[in-house]
Amino acid sequence: MQTVAVLGLGRMGAAIAGRLVDQGYAVRTWNRSPRPPVPGAVAAGSAAEACAGAGFVVTMLTDAAAVLAVVGAADLRAGATLIEMSTIGPDGVLKVAGALPAGVDMVDAPVGGSVGAAAGGALRILAGGDPAVLDRAETVLAALGSVHRCGALGRGAANKLVLNTAVLAGLAALADALAVGAALGIAREDALELLRASPLAAVVGRAMGGPGAAFGVALAAKDLDLARAAAAGVPLPAADGAAELLRRAVAAGPADADVAVLMHFHEVLS
Ligand code: NAP
Repeated sequence: MQTVAVLGLGRMGAAIAGRLVDQGYAVRTWNRSPRPPVPGAVAAGSAAEACAGAGFVVTMLTDAAAVLAVVGAADLRAGATLIEMSTIGPDGVLKVAGALPAGVDMVDAPVGGSVGAAAGGALRILAGGDPAVLDRAETVLAALGSVHRCGALGRGAANKLVLNTAVLAGLAALADALAVGAALGIAREDALELLRASPLAAVVGRAMGGPGAAFGVALAAKDLDLARAAAAGVPLPAADGAAELLRRAVAAGPADADVAVLMHFHEVLS
């Protein structure tokens, strides 16, 4: 199997690197600041050292600025394939592609699912790129979850914004529903039971968090900003409301609190 470099050992990157080790890949990792090593992976001293000779380079970083900075320092060589898995939107993907040296291929492969899904190989991967490059990348991606091909480069990122607009607006709607329930004297557990038997059942499951769910409110706010910018002026009242709730959650801190914190936010606000 080819060597895979994983750049970014945050919540998702560390879980992805660990999963690739479990699946038998030779994995080299790099992170900007000191982080615990991923068992079985080789920790490199720089992004360029991690990428030297690697057939595949996975980036799992906060935003497009981070990906551009890291890819710029990684000294990628012709023949390598960049698998960009962060949520950076289609414009971000195209900017990164434009910054790559000649002969370096790229797919965008943002994901649905959180840390637990990454560690267990159960991500929903929304992939975009040239079909021949996707064929090559699929060997790595299939180790991480199910691969859904969305079209040309950037279409995975576009689909990811659709997904997160709905999920985050759904969480904000659920938070509103719980606040209405509280105002009407309905016990929280009773309201949740009611909603678990509704079309929002899966959103209730996500809102209750759990050990494998760790998606920070600041990252969620970033995703809605990307979605609203991409919508280019189309009114998005539900996403606007969710974005406002997330902004307040970020201000209240901590910024990496899981989005499940929104379920209690109306209590904090009132
Ligand atoms: P995270 O835990 O906050 O980790 C962010 C990573 O980006 C860290 O390794 C951080 O390095 C690095 N980074 C940020 N700015 C950088 C820069 N300028 N230069 C170099 N490295 C930089 O985030 P995460 O939860 O793993 O999420 C990563 C991406 O996946 C985000 O785009 C997020 O929206 C997306 N995503 C997350 C989830 C989830 O459930 N968490 C699910 C789906 C998609 P330091 O350690 O040095 O700060």
